[in-house]
Order: sequence, then structure tokens, then C-alpha cells
Amino acid sequence: MTSYAIPIWPVPSVPVAGRRDRFPVRHVYCIGRNYAAHAREMGGDPEREPPFFFTKPAYSVVPGGGPIAYPPRTADLHHEIEMVVAIGVAGAAIPPERAREHIFGYCVGIDLTRRDLQNQMRERKRPWDVGKSFAMAAPIGAVHPVAGVGHPRAGAIRFAVNGETRQSGDLANMIWSVEDLLAELSTLYTLAPGDLIFTGTPAGVGALVPGDRCEGAIEGLGTLAIEITPPGL
Ligand code: MN
Repeated sequence: MTSYAIPIWPVPSVPVAGRRDRFPVRHVYCIGRNYAAHAREMGGDPEREPPFFFTKPAYSVVPGGGPIAYPPRTADLHHEIEMVVAIGVAGAAIPPERAREHIFGYCVGIDLTRRDLQNQMRERKRPWDVGKSFAMAAPIGAVHPVAGVGHPRAGAIRFAVNGETRQSGDLANMIWSVEDLLAELSTLYTLAPGDLIFTGTPAGVGALVPGDRCEGAIEGLGTLAIEITPPGL
């Protein structure tokens, strides 16, 4: 057994629906602007832009949601509700027609974003990392294995803040299908078991403030609730 020079941290993991086993998280990939209306609200052109990707570290996962302290150095924390793909089988340069063989399951995720920092970096043509990669930036609901839910490709995806619906869309309106996303992403990175892939958010992203109680839901994949708490608590 390997011994370590400092205490080793626990493997980040998320629950698996209906099982005691957990899904260990290796890395988190995300796609930008995968629903036309959201691409437009971010100033893009959904017709012409190929998919692009960014990442979050495994430690940013918040399994099952719950309280989330308002993160530092931002005054514009945004919610993005997204379907997340959980990878179960490794692969590189995966053809779209074989993408499903690599998928363990699906879950609800929230791509929390320090929008002000992301926009500042974007304007300066610098990396987005400070806007997207930070502690607690990726609340994730229970993973639903393919054996139970199949491959959801249509169905309501919504996000409500304090009971008021902010985002409402349908999985059928993705610009790039899950299969096409996996094919493209796997030409850039070798996908491995434990990888999570955020598949983009519908329109209606907006700011959260301490005290907000939020619930995301995707048809067939259940709900994910978070509460924004004051900074540092
Ligand atoms: Mn996103």
C-alpha cells in the first residue's frame, strides 16, 4: 500500500440512486453554451459556434447539494442548471454511435459561476478558471444508472429560486447532443471512469444571494436542492 507524506484526503464521490455504492469523482468537464437561448443571452451565436469546454476540479463537487457558502471575490454568483453525464468506461476519440457504451448514468448538476470574474477574464482573453473552478462550484445530485433511466434525451429541466422558476427548458433543445459532445470531448481528453460532464444550461441564468433556497430538477433524474449561506460559514 502506498504511504503518503501528508494525510490523504477522501475520494470525492456522489450518491448512486437506489444503491449503497457511491460514484467516485475523478474530474469534472463542462460545455459552454449548449442551448440556443442561453448562447444568445451570453452574447453568442448558437448557429456558428462549435462546442467548447472548461473544467472544474473533483473537489468542487458538493454531493447531494445542501448549504453552500457564498464564495469569495465575487458579487455575481450565477446558477446554471444542467444535466450531467457520469462516465463509467474509459475512452478516447469515441465515435458518436459508440458514446453510450461509456456512460454509467445521469444526474442533476448546478454549474455555479462567479460571473463577474468569468466576464473580466473573458474580456482580457485570460482563462476562465477563477470564474468556474472554486470550492463548492459543482453541486451534484444522485447518479441514476443507465440501467434504470436509459439515456434521457428529452424532458423538462428547470431551476427555481425561493419557489420562483428562473430557468425552464427541455433536454431536447441541446445544440450538441450528448453523443456528439462525448465524441468531441474525447478527442481532447481521454475520458475515464469517474469523470462527470456538464452538458450546458438553458436560458434564464441569474444571480444568487445568501438566503436563497434553490431547487433544480430534471425529468426522470429527480431534484437537487441548495441553500446559499453567508460567506465563510
Ligand atoms: Mn454551464
